[in-house]
Amino acid sequence: MNMINLPHDDHSCGWYSVLPPVQPATQLRDAQQADYAIIGVGFSGLAAARRLAELKPNARIILVDAQRVAEGASGRNSGFVIDLPHKFSLEHPDETLKQKLLSLNRIAISQLQRLIERYEIDCQWSASGKYQGAVTERGEKHLEHFEQLMKNLGEPYRWVEKEELKKVLGTEYYSRAIHTPGSYLMQPAALVQGMGQNLPQNVELLEQSPIQSIAHRDGQWLLTGNNGSITTPKLLLGTSIFTKEFGYLKNRLLPVMTFASWTRPLTDAEMQVYQGELNWGLTPADHAGTTLRMTADRRILIRNTYKHVPKYGKSVSEQTRQWVNTQHQQAFAARFPQLADVPLTHTWGGVYAISRNFTNFFGQLEDGLYASACDNGVGAAWGTVSGTLLADLAVGSDSQDLADIQYVTGMPSLNPPEPFLGMGVKFRIQLAKWQSRKEL
Ligand SMILES: Cc1cc2nc3c(=O)[nH]c(=O)nc-3n(C[C@H](O)[C@H](O)[C@H](O)COP(=O)(O)OP(=O)(O)OC[C@H]3O[C@@H](n4cnc5c(N)ncnc54)[C@H](O)[C@@H]3O)c2cc1C
Repeated sequence: MNMINLPHDDHSCGWYSVLPPVQPATQLRDAQQADYAIIGVGFSGLAAARRLAELKPNARIILVDAQRVAEGASGRNSGFVIDLPHKFSLEHPDETLKQKLLSLNRIAISQLQRLIERYEIDCQWSASGKYQGAVTERGEKHLEHFEQLMKNLGEPYRWVEKEELKKVLGTEYYSRAIHTPGSYLMQPAALVQGMGQNLPQNVELLEQSPIQSIAHRDGQWLLTGNNGSITTPKLLLGTSIFTKEFGYLKNRLLPVMTFASWTRPLTDAEMQVYQGELNWGLTPADHAGTTLRMTADRRILIRNTYKHVPKYGKSVSEQTRQWVNTQHQQAFAARFPQLADVPLTHTWGGVYAISRNFTNFFGQLEDGLYASACDNGVGAAWGTVSGTLLADLAVGSDSQDLADIQYVTGMPSLNPPEPFLGMGVKFRIQLAKWQSRKEL
């Protein structure tokens, strides 16, 4: 009875492939009654469930996902937990908004750190900060602009020149970079799975249980799955782009897919040739460029390429994956010619939601229905803090943090109708790719 677009992430995510095998999933069966239900086990849904359990220790809370924990975008990203506001927010004229965003992201980072320590989640969590790297003059211009934004924000940063960069990154590809100290790195699938395995005792986790429809009757939300249903007075959506499938923010969210590949761990001999350090992360000076990471366990990760994906429930076709793998292999060889023979063993895609005005949605959609949607591609910190505060909103508790998130969020702008939307987004992506082709 497939009535809606359901998530079907590919099974080729490197981060997920190295996790230990998991127990069979508990699935949704029969008619369940809950005090609170949450759809989506990404950063937002996990944070919302945990916070609800803290606030309502005697409530029955059901957290449900169509896939296994960590199979969605939250488990397949590049593993940066970024404190700084997104580029477009950094350019926002309202200084208060930027400071609030920064502080909310830092709340999320502390929250994640506490959980990792408390449950000893083995996820390569590290306070490495982040490099933003330029390849050409165009990239350097972006860095100069970024420097100005850091100055305005009063945030620390450091220029890193080519020679020093080469020692860290093991490549001469980048001409300059700016290092900012507040971001963290992690293994996303391990972190998300670790949080899923350590949920409070009054949260019931149901996986591989797609919710096909939601309906509101007599003050109750009815969630219908394939083999069961959940009735609840309060429903929280942590479903990112899939929020559209339930009929909300339909013409406001844009589904974007981006792709990553990684190598197997480098051998001792390859490490000798590489000559760089372990455990760093670099994002591109020009946002359409390439993200690069060297993990703590010697794998090099490459992320680039964006696609507008109107059919976001479909996994990446084998043909697209092969094409992306070739693009990534070229980007890898350009950076590490000395390692050009090292294969990229995994290539995967993941979908997330952006809006044309880069505004995040947070709040109540209807009576008893709440959502945090539209992460604009930096949802590790954002999902965590917005999920937590969505729980506060749903139970009616008040705080400065809640007021702050309401201050910085709003309504994603309306999209033009198809086919103009698809044509426009495609054109923007192609243009950005062409303009930053030397940074790719
Ligand atoms: C390759 C890649 C690299 C990225 N790099 C970074 C990065 O380094 N740092 C960063 O901060 N962000 C990054 N992002 C973005 C980040 O992953 C997302 O912003 C974040 O995961 C969003 O979290 P979420 O909890 O809101 O949604 P998601 O993680 O997308 O979770 C939504 C969940 O809802 C479930 N769902 C949807 N519909 C249904 C349904 N009908 N029934 C049941 N379940 C349903 C899905 O299965 C999914 O698990 C990257 C994304 C990609 C794809």
